[in-house]
Amino acid sequence: MSIEENVQQILKELKEDVKLIAVSKTRTVEEMEQAYKIGIRDFGENKVQELVDKYDKFHKDVHWHLLGHLQTNKVKYIVGKVHLIHSLDSIKLLEEIEKRFKAKDAIANVLIQINIGKEESKTGIYLNELEEIMNKCEQCTNVKVKGLMCIIPKGTEEENRKYFREMNDIFQELKGKNYKNISMNILSMGMSGDYKIALEEGSNMIRVGQGIFGPRNYK
Ligand SMILES: *Cc1c(COP(=O)(O)O)cnc(C)c1O
Repeated sequence: MSIEENVQQILKELKEDVKLIAVSKTRTVEEMEQAYKIGIRDFGENKVQELVDKYDKFHKDVHWHLLGHLQTNKVKYIVGKVHLIHSLDSIKLLEEIEKRFKAKDAIANVLIQINIGKEESKTGIYLNELEEIMNKCEQCTNVKVKGLMCIIPKGTEEENRKYFREMNDIFQELKGKNYKNISMNILSMGMSGDYKIALEEGSNMIRVGQGIFGPRNYK
């Protein structure tokens, strides 16, 4: 199927309050243009350099989402360019984002990435660190937490569902706590292979790359 057909197919499956992020890492702007043409305005990248390059080359009315691990020394490059950082994964990073965005009088919208599968190979906050980072976020003036994000371990459908459900439980619990300066509205979970299950378990933001653009080939 073409990029257009893939996008249309996925959009048909989404309820009104669910946002589709087209994950365009490794893709050319010509490929992205095909998704743009039929209405996609949210694009996800996992590398700062690629996001910044495409920001310069592509339409100005799109929202850029940073999905991958963000190194503190690269925060300065995305101020004013990124719409939502999905990968807040440490207090050190939080402090750097606060500092750099404040210096330019900009607001950073972020999601806290949870390492829900407790995998050493992945970044993200462990559940026992969540309370501490939430408290720090409450004190920020230029960082605004909008919700949570996760990348789950590879596994069976049942295992996937278990992690998504656990994420939704945490999301609902945090929502109920009414932290100041924090709005728990976005639950970013689900990728090409598992977004249908994620939607059933309460996701309202899915990040789809290969399901739109076809298989990635890393050189
Ligand atoms: C690459 C990536 C995706 C998209 O993965 P696909 O399998 O291509 O849908 C989603 N989220 C993150 C954080 C990614 O790095």
